[in-house]
Amino acid sequence: MDLDDNSRNLVQALTNGDPEKISTSRFSSLLASKDRDYLLSSTTQDDQQVKISDLEGKAIGLYFSANWYPPCRNFNEVLIGVYEQLKSNGSNFEIVFVSSDEDLSAFNSYRESMPWLSIPFSDLETKKALNRKFEVEGIPYLIILQPDGSTLHDGVELIYRYGIEAFPFTEEKLEELRREERIKHESQTLTNLLTNPGRDYLLDQTMARKVPVDSLIGKTVGLYFSAQWCIPCAKFTPKLISIYHKIKRSLEGKGGGEDFEIVFVSNDRDQSSFDSYYGTMPWLALPSGDPIIRTLAKYFDVQGIPCLIIIDPDGKTVTKQGRNLINLYQENAYPFTCAKLELLEKEMEEEAKRLPRSNYHAGHRHELTLVSEGNGGGPFICCDCDEQGSGWAYQCLGCGYEVHPRCMRAVDPATAASVQHT
Ligand SMILES: [Zn+2]
Ligand SMILES: [Zn+2]
Repeated sequence: MDLDDNSRNLVQALTNGDPEKISTSRFSSLLASKDRDYLLSSTTQDDQQVKISDLEGKAIGLYFSANWYPPCRNFNEVLIGVYEQLKSNGSNFEIVFVSSDEDLSAFNSYRESMPWLSIPFSDLETKKALNRKFEVEGIPYLIILQPDGSTLHDGVELIYRYGIEAFPFTEEKLEELRREERIKHESQTLTNLLTNPGRDYLLDQTMARKVPVDSLIGKTVGLYFSAQWCIPCAKFTPKLISIYHKIKRSLEGKGGGEDFEIVFVSNDRDQSSFDSYYGTMPWLALPSGDPIIRTLAKYFDVQGIPCLIIIDPDGKTVTKQGRNLINLYQENAYPFTCAKLELLEKEMEEEAKRLPRSNYHAGHRHELTLVSEGNGGGPFICCDCDEQGSGWAYQCLGCGYEVHPRCMRAVDPATAASVQHT
């Protein structure tokens, strides 16, 4: 008998019921309480309880989530899909829900959607202890506990990024996925990004003409992930359209064959919303519902829309921050390269030197102070245009009201004082 056989026997002894060893096992000490050695099973099971000792030897996902919070509900759907696939192919995996719901009825209705196990809602102490132990600061949060005792904290990201491929969540597996991803990104071209075996074209405004993907080679291309139902998209799209026209016009003026194009990657739920939304856009589009849309969202790890990904004339990714850069620099952001951004940052530093140190804004009654990344600033949402910002800003040090320098609608203090405080 070699060593491997020995360790297998040990695992068997543990799972086949040596009660003393089980009661001190890792999962019991985490998940059980003084008078509970079980978890609630999914509501579809006849048996209401599952012994915690049954979990030994499995990879366990500890899932911190709450019904009232939309990002949790979004992730929940994705996680259910992954879980059901893993279960159907017999993987040694289980999930335990740690609820942050406000009351028992919210917990119960959320739990009804879940095919996995739960810690009873009433066991506040165990839930608190888990939140503390794993330093859970935001939800959804998914911690993977490996049978070998190791722990992974970025389960949510791994599930969003790799789906079922992430299993069994070991360091080797993740390294392999990262390597594959790197190779894919290195060999990336527009053609392999945007075509599939049955389609080598994009749609244009007429919806009838087919534009070959290859005709974009040599251009800077923006992939615009957006949808009509998304409110921030509705605000950003008109701005992007106007900037798109400005970039196109200035390139035409320059001559020299340089060109810019945008491709709409629709997250609309049906053809009619695609049609009406795309009807407002002057650029190209992937067909509605094309399977490549999901692949692209995963490949670029798109976590929210609107999202603008910039591809350079060689087909390589320049930046995933197109939206922020458009908000910061408008048409000047083109062609979004590091060199261009460095130049713009320097210009902004120079410009900031000429800005007044403090000012009053038409929408706020307190004085606003000029801040930057280094002194109290940081990423923010502009209270004037509702878009993201970073770097220089005017901020009310008292209540956090913050605007882009270019959104600074300056007024004299007397006018500002009459503004209703919000
Ligand atoms: Zn603004
Ligand atoms: Zn204020």
